[in-house]
Amino acid sequence: MTELRGVGIGLGVAQGPVVRMTEALPAPENTPSARSVDEERARAREAVSAVAAELTSRGEAAGGAAQEVLEAQAMIAEDPTLQDEVDARLDGGSTAEWAVHDAFAGFRATLEAVGGYLGERAADLDDIAQRVLARLHGVPAPGVPDPGHPFVLVARDLAPADTALLDLDRVLALVTSDGGPTSHTAILAREKGIVAVVGVVDAAALATGQTVVVDAAAGVVTSDPTDDERARAAQRAADRLSADTAPLTPGALADGTPIVLLANLGKPADAADAVARGAEGVGLFRTEFLFLASSQAPTIAQQRESYRELLAAFPGRKVVVRMLDAGADKPLAFLNDAHEENPALGLRGLRALRASEDILREQLTALAEADAETDADLWVMAPMVATVEETRYFTALAREYGLKTAGVMVEVPASALLADRVLAHADFASIGTNDLTQYTMAADRMLGSVSGFQDPWHPAVLRLVREVGSAGAALGKPVGICGEAAADPQLAVVLVGLGATSLSMAPSALADVRATLLTRTLDEARLLADAALAADDAASARAAVARLADTFPQH
Ligand code: PEP
Ligand code: MG
Repeated sequence: MTELRGVGIGLGVAQGPVVRMTEALPAPENTPSARSVDEERARAREAVSAVAAELTSRGEAAGGAAQEVLEAQAMIAEDPTLQDEVDARLDGGSTAEWAVHDAFAGFRATLEAVGGYLGERAADLDDIAQRVLARLHGVPAPGVPDPGHPFVLVARDLAPADTALLDLDRVLALVTSDGGPTSHTAILAREKGIVAVVGVVDAAALATGQTVVVDAAAGVVTSDPTDDERARAAQRAADRLSADTAPLTPGALADGTPIVLLANLGKPADAADAVARGAEGVGLFRTEFLFLASSQAPTIAQQRESYRELLAAFPGRKVVVRMLDAGADKPLAFLNDAHEENPALGLRGLRALRASEDILREQLTALAEADAETDADLWVMAPMVATVEETRYFTALAREYGLKTAGVMVEVPASALLADRVLAHADFASIGTNDLTQYTMAADRMLGSVSGFQDPWHPAVLRLVREVGSAGAALGKPVGICGEAAADPQLAVVLVGLGATSLSMAPSALADVRATLLTRTLDEARLLADAALAADDAASARAAVARLADTFPQH
């Protein structure tokens, strides 16, 4: 048994035999053909039509948008202009391999030069050319293999074309050697709920046929696991499945204490999925996601429309909208124009909004208008608040626009340490554990080399959460958690023990967290929180909580 480490996406666990993605074929040599021109032409024709036919039949099998993509690819493969280009090279005495390779590469360059939609099709040509070459060589086409049984796919990384067609009934899990938490593979895995560990530097050691357990929650791939490990993984997978099919009850602990379960959303279109998964409202709407590609500040009308669509999806429910959080990992061209050496410590979040107060005022106007047109319970909050003065500034401004519930995000240790004074001026606090961890541990959340520090289980982070929880309890103000930490079921219980009254997360995490909360009472959550706080580091905190939880009765 060997353990390989990477970045886990989601909380799932899966096991099965490895199938490695077929690597790209090397470019052929330009050597003169030993065959006649007619023979080479026949080979090229046969390979191209076989590939076109295969793409068409794969498309028919996939249906939907994938079918359109594949039918377009089949048409490109048989494009007469492209065939003329291949023929011209064959007439010059080339092999079919070289003629196809070179003609497709030329066509690719032309499409790229045109740009726009056609430019985006350039990468498709590589895929088609690879398939034709594979056919000519008599080897399997590069890409996702089809071994005829469920498997764990191990790849360097996945191209969008590969991911579009992944057969989710066959692919038990994904393991990649490249790619971080924001890679294409990671995004796809998150979206489709596929168990995945990315950035496994030693993934090359995994061979086709070898059995592995892929544990996304721990970010570990175990090859040749023991029977015991396999049984434990199977049990966890079964528990997750039963959490997935459990009734969508409001969040609560085993003793009935309500813990509101909310969704983190980036666009109104995702609201329906959150509702379907039992979100009781929205705990973090990241408004900056709507405008990441905009070079100019969005208009009030534009914003009002998006906010109205969001609020309309949650009648009578709480919806917490965050003001534009620009800077560092999410720069907005219209808010962050100056170069900064350390953007994470720069003019970001509320600081950037304050420097362009007209944009902040327009956003509050749009929100107030959308609020007036809908029935949701709108709460607004400012990101990256560091001081009591900033809290007063923002809440006063929000009230000027008639927005009745105004709070702050606690993402900077300074505002956690003074939470009692911050909360005296805010209606609520929402703890962003991603940034709070980054700033507490002084570890850039985007940097793989320090990712070991970016762990919200660290007792230093938990102590800050306790500050905010205690201040909220003393003042009777809600304290939510909206960072990734809330999506970790065991940590979610600890956060509740530290005083969190609501938890907001990616909708796909709701079922696991809901099920886990139901297994613990508030007293137990507090004991678990104490155990985590008493640890020296994140790993010991996790272990202490797991040990103590094992001694509690089943509810
Ligand atoms: C956070 O920092 O935890 C948070 C929720 O905000 P974001 O991840 O968007 O910075
Ligand atoms: Mg943040």
